[in-house]
Amino acid sequence: MKTNVFISGGGVSGLLLGLMLARNGIDVTVAEKDAKPSVKYKGELLQPKSLELMNRIGLLEEVEAAGFPIRTTSITEYDGSRVLQKIKYHYEKIDHSFNKALMVPHEELKEIIRRCAEAYPSFHFLNPAKFNGFREEGIPKRTALVTHKQQGELEIKADFFIGAEGRVSPVRKSLGIQLTETEYNHYFLTVTFPRPESITEGEMIVRGHSFLGLFPLPD
Ligand SMILES: Cc1cc2nc3c(=O)[nH]c(=O)nc-3n(C[C@H](O)[C@H](O)[C@H](O)COP(=O)(O)OP(=O)(O)OC[C@H]3O[C@@H](n4cnc5c(N)ncnc54)[C@H](O)[C@@H]3O)c2cc1C
Repeated sequence: MKTNVFISGGGVSGLLLGLMLARNGIDVTVAEKDAKPSVKYKGELLQPKSLELMNRIGLLEEVEAAGFPIRTTSITEYDGSRVLQKIKYHYEKIDHSFNKALMVPHEELKEIIRRCAEAYPSFHFLNPAKFNGFREEGIPKRTALVTHKQQGELEIKADFFIGAEGRVSPVRKSLGIQLTETEYNHYFLTVTFPRPESITEGEMIVRGHSFLGLFPLPD
């Protein structure tokens, strides 16, 4: 199999890059290993810059329809039961045409991008398909080895190979590129539950080193 650009990983980055390349008539193949929508929490809050990008690529209307706008986020800091300080961020104060944030379910965002990309004949989505490494024939002649559930073992030749696999990148690993990882000593527990009608803005409650963040999704 031959393509111009092979992208390993069909997360937001891989799909968006695939869409932009396909739009420019470039033959692009994206391989995503997960068959089903991921259950891993990947964040749902799109900030103004991301909304600007969605607008630039013509997806804003669809993304907005799938999301819930956030115009303010308040932060209340407690010491025991005493309020130490209360801060409110107002997105509309930002001197930017996209002066709000949007909560969009991550998997829905990916689906919007993928659907749009699939409208271009030069976009190919292999799923579930896992990139396993390269068959070395000397740079720049490389062949990506991919296991596709339906088509079996595939050998994909390309002019460019992109690793868009997130934090742990098999492309980076196969190329022997070292990664200096930064570790953070904080942890999140993320839960979604039916949104009470009263929660229409972002809210954070801080006590010592812990915080509770409430961010409304559409439902
Ligand atoms: C807890 C948490 C909260 C976050 N909150 C926000 C937020 O509110 N707003 C925001 O903008 N960002 C947020 N982020 C960051 C955001 O999730 C990432 O920036 C974004 O997901 C990166 O996209 P990506 O496509 O680069 O990687 P990923 O989303 O990690 O996608 C990589 C894809 O590659 C696939 N893959 C991996 N290995 C292979 C392989 N061998 N073959 C084929 N496919 C493979 C994976 O299955 C996956 O689908 C958050 C992240 C986390 C962890």
